[in-house]
Amino acid sequence: MRPVTIFGPDFPFPFDEWLSHPAGIGTVPEVAHGEEVAIVGAGIAGVVAAYELMKLGLKPVVYEAAHFGGRLRSHEFPGADGALAELGGMRFPISSSTFFHYVHSLELATEPFPNPLTSAAPSTVIDLEGQSYYARTLSDLPPLFTEVAVAWLTALEAHAGFSAIQIAIRNRDTAVLKSLWNALVEQWDDRTFYDFVATSKAFSALSFFHREVFGIVGFGTGGWDSDFPNSMLEILRVVLTNCDTDQRLITGGSEQVPRGLWRRAESGLTHWSDGTSLASLHGGAPRSGVTRISRATNGNLAVTDVWGAERQYPAVLVTCQNWLLTTQIDCDESLFSNKMWTALDRTRYMQSSKTFVMVDRPFWKDKDPRTGRDVMSMTLTDRLTRGTYLFDNGPDRPGVICLTYSWM
Ligand SMILES: Cc1cc2nc3c(=O)[nH]c(=O)nc-3n(C[C@H](O)[C@H](O)[C@H](O)COP(=O)(O)OP(=O)(O)OC[C@H]3O[C@@H](n4cnc5c(N)ncnc54)[C@H](O)[C@@H]3O)c2cc1C
Repeated sequence: MRPVTIFGPDFPFPFDEWLSHPAGIGTVPEVAHGEEVAIVGAGIAGVVAAYELMKLGLKPVVYEAAHFGGRLRSHEFPGADGALAELGGMRFPISSSTFFHYVHSLELATEPFPNPLTSAAPSTVIDLEGQSYYARTLSDLPPLFTEVAVAWLTALEAHAGFSAIQIAIRNRDTAVLKSLWNALVEQWDDRTFYDFVATSKAFSALSFFHREVFGIVGFGTGGWDSDFPNSMLEILRVVLTNCDTDQRLITGGSEQVPRGLWRRAESGLTHWSDGTSLASLHGGAPRSGVTRISRATNGNLAVTDVWGAERQYPAVLVTCQNWLLTTQIDCDESLFSNKMWTALDRTRYMQSSKTFVMVDRPFWKDKDPRTGRDVMSMTLTDRLTRGTYLFDNGPDRPGVICLTYSWM
């Protein structure tokens, strides 16, 4: 059977198949070769778009206002033998086949992410209402935790037709996938994740405390109760595409992905000479941040950067957070329909906070002589720290602790 991938039910487009196709993702007419396209943002979306446009023979012109790599940001602890803190994205599901296409093409090593109750952790403590539970797998925990896990899977099956949708994703059966998903959109478009949990038959048969445990411990990677007020469709998008299972980290940091694509010198390109890279097309670095996008009288789009320099392009691809178009970048109102402006206005963003500390070695694997257990474990808790993750870089090398990881 084919694997579950992010053949997302909203937009079931097999991008991974296009990428691996010998003919590439397509062609542009020769007359357009060398044509400039502006790309706002040098996060992974902007860099991948620029890379693919370059391969098509166009000339991407990337603008970046802050840090190259955007929310893929790996901060190395100075002088610490490569130990690093992932300030943004840190765990990537293997179902993300397009992302891994680029990871593999850059020959980057990956390893299992130390998620709770996985062998990469290697032990987990769940600390709830002052009570601590130590475990290596779900079966080490009191039955209540299994009841919660079973209730979640039962609720997904009963109220979202989970297996049928995953089969349609595996088969890349767009017709079946859309018909199943569209029915869910109608049902859940304006209802929250908490509504789904609280009204499900499976959780209704259990105690309120079961729901609380579900909120704190979650379903695989940690607590999800900060998502309780969000649309249930958001959660379904994650779980139906296995985004919350089988996650890996990029050894040496996720920022290597945008940086690697930026530097990679290509040969056999449609229009550009051998050795061309995004870096060489940009003289090393992207242009600075964009302050204005407007429609020029000749129909082109005019992009102004922070230095006041204006350049015109037939097309502009915006990859920064959408809401910046309503707050930070001065955009002509005529660029979008009223409906689109309203959608941009209503987009809700969550915030996240992480605190990292480096230690001289992965001491947490030492055994407590009193209990025989690891002296410290990956921890999920209802206390302020919420999630503590442990990164082991080898027995005699500095390790890293993500002391707190919270979303609000
Ligand atoms: C704390 C945290 C943890 C996360 N964990 C995970 C995870 O474990 N796994 C996962 O898959 N995803 C995770 N994510 C999400 C993931 O990091 C993002 O979805 C992804 O990196 C977004 O890439 P992007 O290119 O779309 O946007 P961004 O990375 O935000 O790139 C947009 C770029 O646009 C730039 N920009 C903004 N304004 C302008 C302007 N006016 N002009 C020019 N440039 C501009 C920004 O500086 C930025 O570099 C996490 C995100 C955060 C914040």
